[in-house]
Amino acid sequence: MSMLLRRFDLNKCCLCGDSGNLTGEHKIKLSALRDEFGNVPLYIGGWDDPDNPPKLAQSPKSKFFHFAGKICKECNGTKTQKADRSFHEYHKAVKDSIQNERSDRWENGIFKHPDFSEHSEKSDWLFRYFA
Ligand SMILES: [Zn+2]
Repeated sequence: MSMLLRRFDLNKCCLCGDSGNLTGEHKIKLSALRDEFGNVPLYIGGWDDPDNPPKLAQSPKSKFFHFAGKICKECNGTKTQKADRSFHEYHKAVKDSIQNERSDRWENGIFKHPDFSEHSEKSDWLFRYFA
């Protein structure tokens, strides 16, 4: 019988399980944070939970914007690239639509942009980015 689940090890790549050359992965792309907010202190967290108040992040590079789990440089340079590029294109399309008041492109919802139609390669990679 094959193993379906195993304990997550923070000292190993969360994609391949390798333990060398680990890097921190941003919860939100660093380029998107900088594009939206510049390089200023930000708060991250929820405002409705008094037991878990928002945390001050000194910059978009703050540890608060990183997942606890890490990925290795090999996976970061190969396995996540298509997903990263798809998110970048999606972010750019959303921002363009907002800035140019092109809400007509989103009449069926924010994930219904014509460039990211359901089951398209771009859509699949975009959802892999969020996964
Ligand atoms: Zn890896």
